[in-house]
Amino acid sequence: MRGTKKDYYEILGVPRNASKDQIDAAFAKLAMKWHPDRVPPEKKKEAEKKFKEISEAYAVLSDPEKRRLYDMGVDPDSGAAASGVEFSWQDIEEIFNRFFGGFRGFGDVFDNLFGGGKEVEKEDLDVILPLELSLEEIVRGAKRRIRYRRRETCHRCRGIGIIDPRTCSTCKGNGRVRRYERGLFGTFILSEPCPTCKGRGFEGRTCDVCRGRGYVIREVEREVEIPAGVVEGQKVIFKGLGHRGKRGVGRLILQVKEKPYPRYERKGRDLIYDMILTPAKAVLGGKVEFVDLRGQRVSVSVPEGVQHGEVFARIQGAGVPDPRGGKAGDLLVRARIRIPSNLPRKVKDLYKQILELESSI
Ligand SMILES: [Zn+2]
Ligand SMILES: [Zn+2]
Repeated sequence: MRGTKKDYYEILGVPRNASKDQIDAAFAKLAMKWHPDRVPPEKKKEAEKKFKEISEAYAVLSDPEKRRLYDMGVDPDSGAAASGVEFSWQDIEEIFNRFFGGFRGFGDVFDNLFGGGKEVEKEDLDVILPLELSLEEIVRGAKRRIRYRRRETCHRCRGIGIIDPRTCSTCKGNGRVRRYERGLFGTFILSEPCPTCKGRGFEGRTCDVCRGRGYVIREVEREVEIPAGVVEGQKVIFKGLGHRGKRGVGRLILQVKEKPYPRYERKGRDLIYDMILTPAKAVLGGKVEFVDLRGQRVSVSVPEGVQHGEVFARIQGAGVPDPRGGKAGDLLVRARIRIPSNLPRKVKDLYKQILELESSI
């Protein structure tokens, strides 16, 4: 129950003889100013209250019949339904949807202020892009410059799509027109979307910058840091880098795609490195050094007579790091014996000698 009657003209800051256009303009300005998503967190509560207040004032003053009754001293909120004035938050939501077009940028606000109840389509603000990373980048972490396109609210029309909006002359800002149809049981009143303004309730010059869409597409480039240890399919999220809409700023989501890396295989956090060995090295064994994916020089001992496909060494902690700070995986070394061809004569002769010896054993 509302106590003292509010002065809706004062709330919108317009004179009592304000035209519909003046009321629209005042409302648009205030709605932008007091939108709860556009104020710092400490002002949110106050903004919600203000926002509700101006919405209520506008719902009454923008409707010629409600305004007439209000001017006569009838509170459209109490007992006015009997005289044909109904007032609900649903009305306000409709006004907003008309005013701010198909964007539905205020969906969240309505859910918060008026307890939802109605499924409100949300503006999707996230930019989702694939990101190919080599295993080396996954192990070390990576810095990447990402170039992408995102929506940004049009500055010319402040996202409305219309410059100097004024009430539609056909539907008087209602967004819908009535059609009377005589039927078998009497006259029916049919309500249809207004053909002049396509249901928006407003007419005006279509914004020349965004061509009425309310947003522009801009190409941006940002440097992002990918933590070490991500996995295929993982989403790396950067808040505040997504689309910029009336409801807020979305996220940039990079979906990791692992590029195969030659001679390395990933098994969870462990890495398997295929070390190429000549038959002689496999037979005799010995120390081998190589640089791992972290860029560190490591030394392993190849055992005498190692078999093809045999994992013969494990270097603890040299695998994929855990982005949550846990233990990194291990690096396993597996023997890949490569049979040489087109050997120099001298080596070939030695193989012949080996072959002769083998047949005599
Ligand atoms: Zn525009
Ligand atoms: Zn219209």
